[in-house]
Amino acid sequence: MSEAVKTYENESITIYWRPDICEHAGECVKGLPNVFDVKKRPWISPQNATSEETMRVIDRCPSKALSYQAKK
Ligand code: SF4
Repeated sequence: MSEAVKTYENESITIYWRPDICEHAGECVKGLPNVFDVKKRPWISPQNATSEETMRVIDRCPSKALSYQAKK
C-alpha cells in the first residue's frame, strides 16, 4: 500500500510515479531516455535532464501515472 506512489527527486523537481496505473505506453521512455530507463534502478533519474524537459515529457504521460512538483 505504501508503495502506491514512488518518488524520485533532485534539487529542482520531485517526480511521482504510480506503478498501479502506468499503462507502459512508453511515452516517457521515448521522450527522454536519459531520465526514464526501465533497465536502470531506480528507473527514473531526474538529474539527467532539465526540469523543463522532464515536465514536458511527464505532461505527455497518457495514464497520468507520472506527475511532478517543481521546487523553488
Ligand atoms: S508515459 Fe506514463 S503510462 Fe507510459 S510508461 Fe511512462 S509512466 Fe507509464
